[in-house]
Amino acid sequence: MKPIEWHCRCGCRQVAHRSRDGRVTCEMCHACHEYQAIPHTRTNDAWRAMKAALRGNPWPESYACDLSTDYQQVVLGGVWRGGQITVPSRAWDVPERFVWIVRRLGTQVIDPANTAGREMYDWHIANEADAQVFAWNGRTLIPSTYAQAWDQATEDHP
Ligand SMILES: [Zn+2]
Ligand SMILES: [Zn+2]
Repeated sequence: MKPIEWHCRCGCRQVAHRSRDGRVTCEMCHACHEYQAIPHTRTNDAWRAMKAALRGNPWPESYACDLSTDYQQVVLGGVWRGGQITVPSRAWDVPERFVWIVRRLGTQVIDPANTAGREMYDWHIANEADAQVFAWNGRTLIPSTYAQAWDQATEDHP
């Protein structure tokens, strides 16, 4: 699979870190002077299944930082708030179930328990009709469709 672009610890992308006059500055937050990838050595079943689904998959053509965001959500228990991911210091509140959308140019984890989840899901239905849709039900990453994935990610199963 393609290499993952990890966010910097400052929360910004690596490409935002520019060197000028021998001094590196993050042009997004201006507070960071060295790109340091977020720690990304933890894993779990969901993350392993997602990486397996990307092996040999022509999509996404570019991950940008989306997979880094997905990782923070499903492994570190980060949540989306105000357009950016917030990883609590005491994490492990990872979504038990979620929908995962693989677009031509990126990916998106949607936690149905998040209040903005359904809105985000409907946006994808309207704007990314040909995306690959998966449902993580707590055990298995199921290749799915928009019509079914939401239920698969929320329904109780025996
Ligand atoms: Zn930084
Ligand atoms: Zn920054």
